[in-house]
Amino acid sequence: MTERLYYTDSYTVRFDARVHEHLTQDNRPAVILDRTFFYPTSGGQPHDTGLLNNIPVMDVTTRESDGAVLHILAEALLEDNVQAQVDWARRFDHMQHHTGQHILTQAFVQVADARTVGFHLSGESVTIDLDKNTLTEAEVDEAEDLANRLVWENRAVTARLRAADDVDDVRIRRLPKHLLTEGLRVIDIEGFDVTACGGTHVARTGEIGLIKVLRLEKRGGKTRVEFRCGARALAEFREKLDAATRVAAALDCRVNEAPVMLNKLRDDYRAQAAALKNATVQVTEYEATALLAQATVRGGGLRVVARSFWGRDSSEVKLLASKLTAEPDTMALLGCSGEKAMLFFARSTNVDADMGALLRTTLAELGGRGGGQPAFAQGGGVVVSQDDLQAALDRAVAALGR
Ligand SMILES: [Zn+2]
Repeated sequence: MTERLYYTDSYTVRFDARVHEHLTQDNRPAVILDRTFFYPTSGGQPHDTGLLNNIPVMDVTTRESDGAVLHILAEALLEDNVQAQVDWARRFDHMQHHTGQHILTQAFVQVADARTVGFHLSGESVTIDLDKNTLTEAEVDEAEDLANRLVWENRAVTARLRAADDVDDVRIRRLPKHLLTEGLRVIDIEGFDVTACGGTHVARTGEIGLIKVLRLEKRGGKTRVEFRCGARALAEFREKLDAATRVAAALDCRVNEAPVMLNKLRDDYRAQAAALKNATVQVTEYEATALLAQATVRGGGLRVVARSFWGRDSSEVKLLASKLTAEPDTMALLGCSGEKAMLFFARSTNVDADMGALLRTTLAELGGRGGGQPAFAQGGGVVVSQDDLQAALDRAVAALGR
């Protein structure tokens, strides 16, 4: 069994140890030491990283059978004596977040009677799950305020073993099995919270720096609370402030005015889009009238408009086709060329012709695809010049016969 030195001391990161066992774990070299400051993944807290005789420690786990701590290495370690070093930045980040979690958990109990039923800590996110989904914004603010007051009061955080019959006041969430055999390891935040926990913690709450809730997510009857402590809270603040400052600069206003400005901008945009749509409909009606006046009149009084456009919005061309054929005795064979040509073939309801078939034939010549109903068809997707498109439309007119 490994002596777990981090239980009583979270701060020592350089130490000497003897190799108790050399082994292979999942095809990777590993060692068990007689004593270690390396924290193995457990209780929602990730493992430490670092070096054993300058060989990187990739993972640290607990062996189920006897609770020994396995140091999984990037390459085989041959010596029996090791000089070890734990990565301090990662360890301290975990200490800040784990202690911060204890405080935030107790704060939510006191403010909202919400209990923590889950904890997750990784490089990407830090969350607790609360057993309630009815938290108000005011309650979250109040819990956050309380948590930070505890940080600023710089209270002592102590770890000690308690006998199994002396734990009535201890909050127990999930407990590593080996803790029960040795007694219960309890983390006591002076005058505020007592929780059974096997993780690494700061010695005084002031070291956490700041506890900031970022967002809530309802998950069934629970709420997931995303939060950050210490350097990660600062990094988050920097990133958000940078984004907010850029948004404000683009809007030419102050940061706190940006939401109102954005809403106004969105409303303006919607009003202008509606006005533009109205204007387009009106222009298209005039255009339809002009085109009908120039239309070729065929046998039976059928008016045919065959017209190609270049680089025009296809929805406008489609609208034009429907305006033209709202009149009786009319056929509209329209197309717009450009990156991807679009063709719209339409006829009035009183005209007897199959627009779908005519469009398929025309597009087959151009190498595109499309189809539709006898009264209206559309398709395209080919690259074609305006002249070639016009020629294809003219051939379609010719194919109508007299
Ligand atoms: Zn803890």
